[in-house]
Amino acid sequence: MNKLIYMDNHATTPVDNRVLDAMLPYFTEKFGNPASRQHKYGWVAEEAVESSRNLIAKFLNADAKEIYFTSGATESNNLALKGIAESHASKGRHIITCATEHKSVIDTCRRLEKSGYRVTYLPVDEFGIIDLENLKKAISTETILVSIMTANNEIGTIQDMSEIGNICKQNEILFHTDATQAVGKMNLNLKKMNVDLVSFSGHKIYGPKGIGVLYVHDRKPKTRLEPQMDGGGHERGLRSGTLNVPAIVGLAQALKLCYEEMEEEQIRVANFRDKMQNAFFSRLDDVYLNGHPTKRISNNLNMSFMYAEDSAIMMSMKEIAVSSGSACSTAQPQPSHVLKALGLSEDRRHSAIRFGLGRFNTEEEVDYVIDRVIEAVKSLRNLSPIYQKKVSKNN
Ligand code: PMP
Repeated sequence: MNKLIYMDNHATTPVDNRVLDAMLPYFTEKFGNPASRQHKYGWVAEEAVESSRNLIAKFLNADAKEIYFTSGATESNNLALKGIAESHASKGRHIITCATEHKSVIDTCRRLEKSGYRVTYLPVDEFGIIDLENLKKAISTETILVSIMTANNEIGTIQDMSEIGNICKQNEILFHTDATQAVGKMNLNLKKMNVDLVSFSGHKIYGPKGIGVLYVHDRKPKTRLEPQMDGGGHERGLRSGTLNVPAIVGLAQALKLCYEEMEEEQIRVANFRDKMQNAFFSRLDDVYLNGHPTKRISNNLNMSFMYAEDSAIMMSMKEIAVSSGSACSTAQPQPSHVLKALGLSEDRRHSAIRFGLGRFNTEEEVDYVIDRVIEAVKSLRNLSPIYQKKVSKNN
């Protein structure tokens, strides 16, 4: 195979051509500013934004007025956490989150700690699941927000959203979830989920980069949220700044395609994932699955290939784009805090590869990747004195 193979769809996805086609007119002939209320250019842009908002709301079973556009999940997470913290400080200054959250949640919490908030980082079990009893125990009269991601970006593990939502509701605490890796892959019904705030990004669902959503449940009493961007009062005062119309149109179109094709696509992708997993388990010894074996999103496969360094595996198959640790979550590569939170040994963490399957992967690519990974792992193990010693001991 003399082309590159992309299997890093948790980091980002290519824009689907059908999404691009929908976006293009909004760069050129329909370039207006939706805030220009006095002329047709503005009206056309505003109509595109509002029909996109309606479409997004329809698929997520939300109301259009609950959808706020941001620049991406990082901004949505910052706005949710800082916005709630600042507007609820008089009620309490305690936030509960989880050790395996994306850095845009963890580092936001760290900053809030510096300004006097207390944050509980719930531990996870070996599969990446939080213990609901621990969550209940952590809640105090000071707790204002629980933020737990729907699906993890490294290991794909899905948390029990409805139970967490129920616990928060019973305790009258706001519940935020970073659903960046789940939106478009699972049928999220926000009205039924007991969730108050939800973040996600366009570029993980075959839409453009630089656009995201924060859903804020329109409840009584109203969820108060301190804006983090001051300016022209766009997005009903919550997020100032001229709206990115082509990207908004793209995000809505991308979500629509995900929903229309979800059933077929998720089955296809999960079959590819299972084929890879089964091949690695049956053709190699000393391999481990990282994350939950069943409670996981369909496109994630995170495996450790003991006695072979993750970076060395990747270097020996440069035509294949996969990821080790958390390359997508940070611009400064660091050892994975997620794999560490699972309690995995150092060897297991340093031999972990994340395969992120996606819409455009083919069976031919999957077969090729299986063979190349096995070949790479075997040849690295041949060079590993520790592995050789282990093999000769067993013989
Ligand atoms: N949360 C999760 C779970 C993610 O996977 C990502 C992207 N790696 C983000 C937040 C941040 O998204 P963005 O870079 O689009 O702001």
